[in-house]
Amino acid sequence: MTRIDLHSHSSVSDGTDTPAEVLREAVAAGLDVLALTDHDTVGGIAEAAEHVPPGLTLVPGMELSCAHAGSSVHLVSYLFDPDAPGLAAELRRVRSDRASRAEEMVAKLRGLGVDVSWERVLTIAGAGRDEYADANTIGRPHLARAIVEAGAARDVQDAFDQWIGSGGPAYAARYALDPVRAVELVREAGGVCSLAHPARAEGALNGAVPIDLVERMVAAGLGGIEADHPSHNRAQTKEWRGVAADLGVVVTGSSDDHGSLTGHRLGCRTTAPEAFEELVAPATGVSLIRG
Ligand code: AMP
Ligand code: MN
Ligand code: MN
Ligand code: MN
Repeated sequence: MTRIDLHSHSSVSDGTDTPAEVLREAVAAGLDVLALTDHDTVGGIAEAAEHVPPGLTLVPGMELSCAHAGSSVHLVSYLFDPDAPGLAAELRRVRSDRASRAEEMVAKLRGLGVDVSWERVLTIAGAGRDEYADANTIGRPHLARAIVEAGAARDVQDAFDQWIGSGGPAYAARYALDPVRAVELVREAGGVCSLAHPARAEGALNGAVPIDLVERMVAAGLGGIEADHPSHNRAQTKEWRGVAADLGVVVTGSSDDHGSLTGHRLGCRTTAPEAFEELVAPATGVSLIRG
């Protein structure tokens, strides 16, 4: 059986394993195809590509953070040319704003008596600030780990619940792409994309991406919906499989592995081979990396 996992993170964004380690974990999980999809960056793909063993296929990818009406909408994107001018410019803007926003959240936390330092957050995130615009992305999980270290939360989840979740006392918004525009940019760059965990849109009224927005994304070239995701319950998975069928796009299934941040789980959800083939067929940006 071909095992395909199309959503994973490394320490280049908010995962805890290096790209090389993610590839080792993929082998241990018995995967045949893995997409590395760090948030708003392809900074880990070159390292990952050096560690693809025979028999495994690496799909170069990225999870784009988008926003719609105050809620987060995530787009897992594959096989685009990262140097396509429109997309590259947006990615630099998103990553640089992520750094400023994290700094703003550190200031809020300090104002609230939580003893976190910007230097420490940068260390946890694995790079100096100047590098962000080019490679690594900084995210709230890095802040959450600093909050836990400072003794102001029990664990990462508690840090989100108490301090930095959407609407929390130390939360700050950040620049994010419009989801329809994001689909257009990925398609213009020769890539393809799937709507990530649609039942989990942080900040949305009922927690889900609105259907009219999904319809507009499909019209712009969205090729799949990630109905199978560990954060979805059975009813949500079923509902979004139905939406994908109604809109004529494929269903993708993925682990969204973040290493020890969420507990290793590569391969806990997978994508059917036919769905994968259909999803990537229109891609022209870059090629699959076969070991
Ligand atoms: P950011 O991209 O900086 O806004 O942070 C979002 C990331 O935080 C997501 O990709 C998840 O990895 C993580 N995350 C979001 N909500 C939670 C939560 N409630 N508990 C733990 N991690 C979360
Ligand atoms: Mn994440
Ligand atoms: Mn996501
Ligand atoms: Mn993810």
